[in-house]
Amino acid sequence: MSDAAQPDSESPALRSEIEHKLLSIVAAEPTRASTADLYQALSHVAREQLAQRWVDTQNADRDNKARRIYYLSMEFLIGRAMNNALAALGLRDQAAAAFTAPGPALDEVIECEPDAALGNGGLGRLAACFLDSMATLGLPSWGYGVRYEYGMFAQSILNGQQVEKPEAWLQNRSPWEFPRANKHYTVRFGGHAEHHGEWAEWHAADSVEAKAFDYVIPGHGTERVSTLRLWKAAAPSHIDLGAFNTGDYQRAAEFKNRFENISWVLYPNDSTPAGRELRLRQEYFFVSASLQDILFRHLAEHGSFCNLAEQVAIHLNDTHPAISVAELMRLLVDEHGMAWATAWDQCRRIFSYTNHTLMPEALETWKVTLVQRVLPRHMLIIYRINQEFLDEVVRLYPGDIDLIRRVSMIDDGGGHDKDKRVRMANLCIVGSHRINGVSQLHSDLMVQTIFADFARLYPERFHNKTNGVTPRRWLAQANPGLSSLLDERLGSRDWRLHLEHLHELRASADDAGFRSAFAEAKRGNKQRLASYVAREVGVTLNPDSLFDVQVKRIHEYKRQLLNVLHVITRYNALLEGSTDGVAPRSVIFAGKAASSYHMAKQVIRLIHDVAAVVNNDPRTRDLLQVVFIPNYGVSVAELIMPAANLSEQISTAGTEASGTGNMKLSLNGALTIGTEDGANIEIRDNVGAENIFIFGNNTAQVSAIRQSGYQPHDLYLNDPRLKEVLDKIDSGVFSPGERSRYHDIFNCLVHYGDHYLLLADYSDYLATQARVDALYLTPAEWQRKAILNVAGMGPFSADRTIADYANDTWKIRTF
Ligand SMILES: *Cc1c(COP(=O)(O)O)cnc(C)c1O
Repeated sequence: MSDAAQPDSESPALRSEIEHKLLSIVAAEPTRASTADLYQALSHVAREQLAQRWVDTQNADRDNKARRIYYLSMEFLIGRAMNNALAALGLRDQAAAAFTAPGPALDEVIECEPDAALGNGGLGRLAACFLDSMATLGLPSWGYGVRYEYGMFAQSILNGQQVEKPEAWLQNRSPWEFPRANKHYTVRFGGHAEHHGEWAEWHAADSVEAKAFDYVIPGHGTERVSTLRLWKAAAPSHIDLGAFNTGDYQRAAEFKNRFENISWVLYPNDSTPAGRELRLRQEYFFVSASLQDILFRHLAEHGSFCNLAEQVAIHLNDTHPAISVAELMRLLVDEHGMAWATAWDQCRRIFSYTNHTLMPEALETWKVTLVQRVLPRHMLIIYRINQEFLDEVVRLYPGDIDLIRRVSMIDDGGGHDKDKRVRMANLCIVGSHRINGVSQLHSDLMVQTIFADFARLYPERFHNKTNGVTPRRWLAQANPGLSSLLDERLGSRDWRLHLEHLHELRASADDAGFRSAFAEAKRGNKQRLASYVAREVGVTLNPDSLFDVQVKRIHEYKRQLLNVLHVITRYNALLEGSTDGVAPRSVIFAGKAASSYHMAKQVIRLIHDVAAVVNNDPRTRDLLQVVFIPNYGVSVAELIMPAANLSEQISTAGTEASGTGNMKLSLNGALTIGTEDGANIEIRDNVGAENIFIFGNNTAQVSAIRQSGYQPHDLYLNDPRLKEVLDKIDSGVFSPGERSRYHDIFNCLVHYGDHYLLLADYSDYLATQARVDALYLTPAEWQRKAILNVAGMGPFSADRTIADYANDTWKIRTF
């Protein structure tokens, strides 16, 4: 249901509700209320309406004994809740009318909310988009995760370098959470397991309490909502902290911390597993609490577990919740007395698993010695699952010792006990009935490379589910200008709930009137971003320049450095006076580097150093600007996506599983310059090859180059433009105070093999960027193609993705 379609009822009613909440929640009087007070009051108005919807949904699902989908994820990168809640409740227009001068406007009130940044990047944002779509499609659905006290770090820039600060998003309490005082479970660790045939008694050494906090996830165009249940770790109830407080505060505090640290902080790694014990404890903590909760709900509704697999689907978002497979076996066999074989049969029908990366170094493994110490019973369960699985493999492929070694859940570490590791992906695959990749290319490569053996064993389990994004947050809320244009054009067909209607926009691409309205909306968004950049970074961007945007986690495989090579090449060419056919550009970067990732941090620093030179050069200033927008997150993305003209999706072919930033940008009318990687390929197929700039080596060519002995040094010597760029970086042209600062970057590319093939794609990238300029200088053509991009993005709604999961993987009905 679009907000625009809502009758705008009297705003005084809402205003008086807000004033009532001001009194009851904040104890403030309207004339003296601060913007933050008004945020609290408004959020509580929305909270109350959401609470009613939550109760109604839960009652309906209980009465229907609904089959439910439980989405387990270590990350949910949600962002702010207010605007989305107002839209879902149909309150957006009333709320805008309720905030009038001289008080703050609704947008200022909304900006008081800190982002809920309980995730790193794409994987966590995907989970958040999925919650939105599951609620909107009316699926009986729950998300389960960790209530991190500190989410993703806040990034600031000091002297061109990233500085990480803890982000205490819960400092002022979240008005969106509902603490469930009576929902808590004990999660145990350590000790030893005592065997009694099939089952075991686990004598744990330690335990913590998991306490539930619920976030209501509103559906759009429906009164149904979903729940995101997050677990906070606390001292178990049998421990009386008060007893410690008789004088020994220090010890009492340490003791409390020992329990609570499990849910304290999100590991800020992206695409690299964190091999620390605390991380394993975090994973098990949220898995155990979630599964206990799921079983409790099932038992309350059905009185027995014999129909568990008929009623429950559990999805594993990457391998982070992989220990679920062993934990469900433990709960069913050890705690509820189910026979092993019956429990295993249930398990395999309950779980499904999404893989998010092909890079072998990113696959999660845990030392057997560590798992043994922290989760002794689970280690034994994994051994048994593995033994039964390998017996089956031997029956199918007798004598293939290599195959056995490859598919085993245990990497035998070359025979040394201390080097043995548990392969979490293998556990997921064997324990699931469906395994999927996140774009067609990724799913194809998955069964051809990392999971080839498993695909031979279980071909029927492997599927593709191309990612999507929610059109509510990423178009309707982030881009009101374009949204009202779409409403005008598409009339009553609500693209917010049926994004496929965007297809009907195709005809408007040839309508000059529409093109100029479209361009005007884009220009408004660029101006909005330019004001933000002026305020936050102190750089003035020309809103008529081409906004060239690369925003995502900083990672070598994403190749921000290739973008920088292009920027410097362009700068050099401008200095030499070649300005013909050059469109004025603002190159915009944003993204966080993992705190331990040296190379990524160097790239951030180089971007700043290059920006300092380029932006201060009066000879080039009108044609080239470079900015790095700090603290990339959902709210910053909501400002950037609608303002982009060009979307940089330039990962080495075969490394980006899908990407979702590419979808948000194209949906907001940016043209993509990208490699044949992840979902870029499907975006091309949907928007038309003539409306996208695809360049560089594809996956087949990438492997051919690597196999034939890649020689980046030759490329460096043979391309004078490239040589000039790399020499400038290496010799300190951009770091005059410290000439050797970027030696390591230079060496990585020229001498140490250029693992991500930047130099191999450089010349095609430049040639393609020149075509981008030419098109931008023909505005009518550019606008036409931009419109055709929006028109082609219907299939990239997360609603489509979730409908596919619901039909093929979860077998669950919508309401
Ligand atoms: C969409 C999104 C991502 C994922 O971006 P990719 O370009 O697909 O890597 C990461 N972070 C935030 C905040 C996002 O909104």
